[in-house]
Amino acid sequence: MTHLAVIGAQWGDEGKGKVVDLLSPRFSVVARYQGGPNAGHTVVFGGKTHALHHIPSGIFHPGVTSVIGPGTLIDPERLLAEIEGLAAQGIEVDQRLRISLRSHVIMPWHLGLDGGYEARLEEQAIGTTRRGIGPAYSAKMERFGVRVADLARPEELAARYRAARSMGLAERLEALGETMPTEQAIQATARQWWQRLGPLCCDTTDLLHAALRDGRAILFEGAQGTLLDVDHGSYPFVTSSSTGAGGIPAGLGVPPRAVEQVVGVAKAYLTRVGAGPFPSEDDGSAGQRLRQVGKEFGTTTGRPRRCGWFDAVAARYAVRLSGIDALALTKFDVLSGLPEVRIAVAYEIDGERCETLPAVASDLERAEVVYEDLEGWSEPLEHVRCLADLPRAARVYLDRIEELAECPLALVSVGPDRTQTIVPGGSLLEDFGVEATR
Ligand code: GDP
Repeated sequence: MTHLAVIGAQWGDEGKGKVVDLLSPRFSVVARYQGGPNAGHTVVFGGKTHALHHIPSGIFHPGVTSVIGPGTLIDPERLLAEIEGLAAQGIEVDQRLRISLRSHVIMPWHLGLDGGYEARLEEQAIGTTRRGIGPAYSAKMERFGVRVADLARPEELAARYRAARSMGLAERLEALGETMPTEQAIQATARQWWQRLGPLCCDTTDLLHAALRDGRAILFEGAQGTLLDVDHGSYPFVTSSSTGAGGIPAGLGVPPRAVEQVVGVAKAYLTRVGAGPFPSEDDGSAGQRLRQVGKEFGTTTGRPRRCGWFDAVAARYAVRLSGIDALALTKFDVLSGLPEVRIAVAYEIDGERCETLPAVASDLERAEVVYEDLEGWSEPLEHVRCLADLPRAARVYLDRIEELAECPLALVSVGPDRTQTIVPGGSLLEDFGVEATR
């Protein structure tokens, strides 16, 4: 096996950053296929915390090319700030990062639209990150989106700008209390962006095809989580892209068979940011404890995350949707000290037992959860490096997760640092050169 996908198996924030960072040195390319600055990965090493939004978590490793692919969105101002932040820490971003000429650009008016829509929707708001993601993806589908390549071509940029105007964009902005910038102002901004970003931009599809041809290993890095997928998530409380493994060939221009193995990252419990159904949410003291101990506050927005129990129904759905071969279970250390741990094993909706995610979000909203309750454990797990050293109750919990999610565990994370990781013998990751911690 050569190529591996690492994707979120829940509603995002699963700890993908740590897992991708851990695996990156074994790959030649790490490629992001969807989403934009709404992603927020946190990587911790050497006692320092590094937050990433656009840039793949492979960026910390010399010799690894980090690719931002055609299916993603770029906010040039934020991307430049991220690049400068990394460069200030001595990371050779210019050598390591490549941005697709086909990626779409979040323009200032997309930011205005996003904030304006959310404010108007009030209690029906989706709870977006207000980073212009939905409006920029909408413009792409409506065929007046601006692509990275257009920043270097004033005539193309003018055509997109004028098309957007003739579709009534200026009026839509005005109705939301925002103003459309002039064409002249946008051309000047685009020139500045291109001056700095231009040297990093290329045909990344070609770059990936060359890697595939030469047998160089590619790691496909997902953002957000499978349950936020625009088609398969709890619509409309979803993100605007295909977050599951199906988004990889579409977003990067590689054949589906290039995605040889899929690791789904899942927390040992569950969180969700923003609105939308969350059947196993815990509003009581256990939920509060998970938030405090797990530091469940958004990397991108700082918002407190909603917390609850591991949902095996949702996990099974994600496993089936994305063909997840193994799970990387993170934040297992956070569960220590709870007298009891719960796993959602089924739902009851209007008196009927349901073992998969219903198509309509309001049905999921009404779902009563059928729980399996297991004994908790008090021992801290931060220093555990092999399954045999875990307390018995913690082992039982992991075994139930594997059985109920119908998926083996490839990795168990017991702390934010690279070293706080258990890789069991027989893990799928051994095929990718990761040694079992035994
Ligand atoms: P991502 O977007 O999926 O990469 O997730 P985030 O970065 O938003 O959230 C994961 C957070 O949990 C980060 O702050 C990580 O440093 C932290 N983290 C990752 N794995 C573990 C773990 O096993 N235990 C603890 N306590 N924290 C972890």
